[in-house]
Amino acid sequence: MISVHAAVETILSQISPLSGEEVPILQATGRVLFEDLRARRSVPPFANSAMDGYSVRWRDVAQASAANPVTLQVLETVPAGYVAKRRVGEGSAIKIMTGAPLPRGADTVVRVEYTESVGDHVRISRVDGSGSHIREAGEDIRRGQTILEKGKVLTPADIGLMASVGKGRVRVYRRPAVGVISTGDELLEIDERPRPGKIVNSNSYTLAAAIRESGATPVPLGIVRDKRKSLASVFKRALRYDAVITSGGISMGDYDLVKEALGDVGVQMQFWQVAQKPGHPMAFGRISRKPIFGLPGNPVSSAVSFLLYARPALLKMMGHRNLFLPVIQATLEHEIKKSRGVKEFIRCRLRNEEGQSFVSSAGAQGAGVLRSLSLAQGLIVASEEQTLLEKGCRVPVILLGQQDLLKEEMGF
Ligand code: AMP
Ligand code: MG
Repeated sequence: MISVHAAVETILSQISPLSGEEVPILQATGRVLFEDLRARRSVPPFANSAMDGYSVRWRDVAQASAANPVTLQVLETVPAGYVAKRRVGEGSAIKIMTGAPLPRGADTVVRVEYTESVGDHVRISRVDGSGSHIREAGEDIRRGQTILEKGKVLTPADIGLMASVGKGRVRVYRRPAVGVISTGDELLEIDERPRPGKIVNSNSYTLAAAIRESGATPVPLGIVRDKRKSLASVFKRALRYDAVITSGGISMGDYDLVKEALGDVGVQMQFWQVAQKPGHPMAFGRISRKPIFGLPGNPVSSAVSFLLYARPALLKMMGHRNLFLPVIQATLEHEIKKSRGVKEFIRCRLRNEEGQSFVSSAGAQGAGVLRSLSLAQGLIVASEEQTLLEKGCRVPVILLGQQDLLKEEMGF
């Protein structure tokens, strides 16, 4: 039996990022950039007005004031998307809209609020300074400049940034295809009629959903019965994918044959027990560079083991550097007893009071009680050496979702 820490280290040290693939930028949100990205164009591509107003020569308007307004002849109006035909010369102006290219001869924009239109002239009674309200060409991005670095997790702003320099496709790390297998003679498909002794295979759904949430692609391979030969033949098929996740069949029962069957198809097992609760049967193996996760059968054990071990591994395969869920410190609202020698992950709910986080159990902690995991906002982490967590002590909590907490902190 190895520690949680050693299990995570063992797994991650054997995982390498996958190759890259080119995708349309709209499919790249949340994915990791596989290349440094240089701008092929400058942004803005041309000098343009930051205001609705009049483009002028500074020296014509420098003295303008309410007491001494300056009057200029308006040659034309240039909307965004068009280029002025005329040139701004002495004593003249071109009316300009936000985003329109600065006309030749002009060096300053006077905002419309400081002006009054008088026939085909404009009276200017205030100015903001020489060169004001002009966005220079290349002011945001200069052509050839690196705008996004390899390893960046792409955000909506990054997608827009790429669009602004005319980049419609981008290379990102490939998503691993992950074969998902549930093992057990007791398992029914979701639409099968209930029968004595049988339960629905929920793990395939929990795991496929969690895989998808991580950004990887689940490939459900169905239910396999507890027979070494059947297990081995499905495992063999599963090895064409980038990673394999099984659930069930790795404890000490007479029908727990997953470990043997993985051995039959050439998987080198690295460990199969971790000092943790829930889910101490938890196997990891490898065939060439492909990781195989043998998760426990109990629904909460498999879900929690996925988060602790498979999720960071899949993220690393997808080029992520930030592999772990966020952890906060919170004050425990009641005592918790545990056994020495195992790390425990306790499903919990969080409460925020005057900027302080308080944490309490989310309900029954049995390894099969999926309902309390569904209610949980986090997992309290209790270390191996602890046997009693006292009421009022500060404990680390792995956050499972943070929307409602953030909302409170932001005062919404
Ligand atoms: P095992 O590790 O195979 O002994 O399974 C432990 C417990 O988890 C048993 O109660 C199983 O019935 C249950 N279990 C195993 N696989 C699944 C599954 N795919 N969906 C729901 N429960 C499961
Ligand atoms: Mg089983």
